[in-house]
Amino acid sequence: MSALRSAASPATTSSPPPASPPPDFREHLATADDRGNRRWLYPQRPSGRFHTLRQWFSWFLLFLMFAGPFVKINGNPLLLFNLLERKFSILGQIFWPQDFFLFALAMLLFLMGIMIFTAAYGRLWCGWACPQTVMMEMVFRPIEWLLEGDGSRQRQFNQPPWTAAKIRRKILKHAIFFGLSFLVGNTLLAYLIGIESLWQLVTDDPRLHLSSLGAMIGFTLIFYGIFSRFREQACTFICPYGRFQSALLGENTMVVAYDHKRGESRGPWHRNESAEARRTSGTGDCIDCRQCVVVCPTGIDIRNGIQMECVNCTACIDACDRVMDKIGQPRGLVRYASLNGIERGEPLRLTARMKGYAGILVLLSVIFFTLLFTRSDVETVLLRAPGSLYQMTEAGNVNNIYLMKVINKTSKPEPVELHLVGREGVLKVMGPPLVIPPGQLVQTSVLVELPPSSLTGHETPLKIDVTSRGKHLATVSTEFLGPRP
Ligand code: SF4
Ligand code: SF4
Repeated sequence: MSALRSAASPATTSSPPPASPPPDFREHLATADDRGNRRWLYPQRPSGRFHTLRQWFSWFLLFLMFAGPFVKINGNPLLLFNLLERKFSILGQIFWPQDFFLFALAMLLFLMGIMIFTAAYGRLWCGWACPQTVMMEMVFRPIEWLLEGDGSRQRQFNQPPWTAAKIRRKILKHAIFFGLSFLVGNTLLAYLIGIESLWQLVTDDPRLHLSSLGAMIGFTLIFYGIFSRFREQACTFICPYGRFQSALLGENTMVVAYDHKRGESRGPWHRNESAEARRTSGTGDCIDCRQCVVVCPTGIDIRNGIQMECVNCTACIDACDRVMDKIGQPRGLVRYASLNGIERGEPLRLTARMKGYAGILVLLSVIFFTLLFTRSDVETVLLRAPGSLYQMTEAGNVNNIYLMKVINKTSKPEPVELHLVGREGVLKVMGPPLVIPPGQLVQTSVLVELPPSSLTGHETPLKIDVTSRGKHLATVSTEFLGPRP
């Protein structure tokens, strides 16, 4: 990070000296004035190749996000994080509290993936896929541009006098924002409690679901607050990812960067001025038009180097490319590049640190998927009934009573059958046939009766196969007590 911070400073003596950024630009936030009050941002509407690509990608992501709660894999939700019932589903794989270690490993893998991704591609996630950026820049902000005009017009629009027409527009905007926040809040709730429970909440008597109703109202208000007022501050103040990126970015990380070697020293462009004449006078390609600044949704100047507030949204790349097109210079003064790419012209590459992270990720993935695909859908525990000894029957056979616990980890009822392995005898489940409801633990007693010929001593090793619909699930082992020889 420290190296990247120096992106706007001269690297070699042959480079022209850069125009100095404001000396205190790292001392205060771009969104706060000298007294610490919020400086409201009015970014101009971006346009260009990256913006168009991001728009298409955002629509695709929005479709996935809103359709996600309806998607089922093998009857299980695509994603479910039901904290209240401690039930989780990732890609249709149900995780119960008994699988907590697997869930923890999945989270570890996720974090590791983020680390590698960030070390290689910087904040690509923030600019292209983060729900906050996608919703703010591709849904809420365009509605504002539509109703109140582009950045500079919005600034005027928010000045007095407050006419009836202006107030009506504000009310309309906030009503739309509130409606969209309700939709986003309900989508989040659907990921937490499942689409069926959400539907029940909407159709049932609300008094029966007060806690879920409270969550629904709470989420709506939070999202409305974020998208209508808090905005870029969610990335700057709250998001932990933005904070820990400084520990992950390196000199080879791809970021949105200003090529200070090419751009400095900046200076205004004069009509009909040739590139040759500019170069001869020691002026760089940056014409100091500030188009990259006025489009920035976090209010920063990318020419000051990489900054924590930058969400890599690419708006400044598009803005600067447009300017370069107009003055007949090659595009890419602001572009995706690494610090080494700008300083030394090195191509983007995987460093030893990134390879190390990738190795750990592969190892954790192998462990995770091995555990995931070898875990049993039904977990069985067989214990001898506490304090029980063997009993002799009238026919001279010996019986033992066991306590059996069966956990069904699937989302459908599992009929369970038990069979003695390799021993003559009878096994009886006390009570009705064992059918374990989805996600439930059922406890039952099991009676095993063996003829004396099956015994090998006072403690005979016993194995029981657990099957469901003819499919072998597990084999449990125990001891069978009998008379001493
Ligand atoms: S848009 Fe490009 S030319 Fe204009 S100020 Fe920004 S970097 Fe310089
Ligand atoms: S500096 Fe550029 S990439 Fe970073 S947030 Fe601002 S406009 Fe987006």
